[in-house]
Amino acid sequence: MNIVLFGPPGAGKGTQGVRLAEEKSIAAIAMGDMLRQAVAEQTPLGVQTKQFMDAGKLVPDAVVIGMIEETIVEEDASNGFLLDGFPRNVAQAESLDEMLSRHGFALDAVVFLDASEELLLERLSGRLICKACGFGFHRHYSPPREAGCCDRCGGELYQRDDDNEDVIAQRLHVYQEQTAPMLDYYAHRSSFCRVDADGGMDEVYERLINALEQMH
Ligand code: ADP
Ligand code: ZN
Repeated sequence: MNIVLFGPPGAGKGTQGVRLAEEKSIAAIAMGDMLRQAVAEQTPLGVQTKQFMDAGKLVPDAVVIGMIEETIVEEDASNGFLLDGFPRNVAQAESLDEMLSRHGFALDAVVFLDASEELLLERLSGRLICKACGFGFHRHYSPPREAGCCDRCGGELYQRDDDNEDVIAQRLHVYQEQTAPMLDYYAHRSSFCRVDADGGMDEVYERLINALEQMH
């Protein structure tokens, strides 16, 4: 099964995507995580990439398209994949279709995870992430049992460089300008569904599973 999960920053794509991919035994491919890893490794690509991410802008299409194609044709995606954070604009969506048909793959589901701007702002500004396992917490809505420390693995919690007020505003702007138009690209497909992301983690996950079941 091949799935695209898209939506505004802060909608919970990462959380829901990892869980869904686990349940379906497919590879979870998170573009943002791959880019942050390139930044952390300080590869030449990573150094270039950081400037865009810190400014809340999209990394150039050629960079992300190349990374995705490499990952998809790798063995661990042969059982299927869930893409989180790619595509993020119409040009990337077109490249993905072209790339998939070239490799003989198709998309079984395109899920739009939707939330109001107000909710996104609240979520992003309070977000805390585990350095070790990547699990997300929120200062107010889902605080860790012990401050600064991950409930799951004891890892150190941090705030992402781009989760500050100015960059969040820019990311939401880029979303409206570049990512939201992908709705027109995908919405008419029978594989498309919209899931309301306003709710608790389990509640949203249940909606997601129901939406996928209704589709097939
Ligand atoms: P979020 O969805 O919460 O904004 P991500 O971790 O998915 O977070 O992405 C963080 C940043 O990584 C983006 O603001 C952008 O700079 C870069 N990025 C992620 N995916 C893409 C993509 N498909 N194309 C271009 N840039 C991307
Ligand atoms: Zn952890």
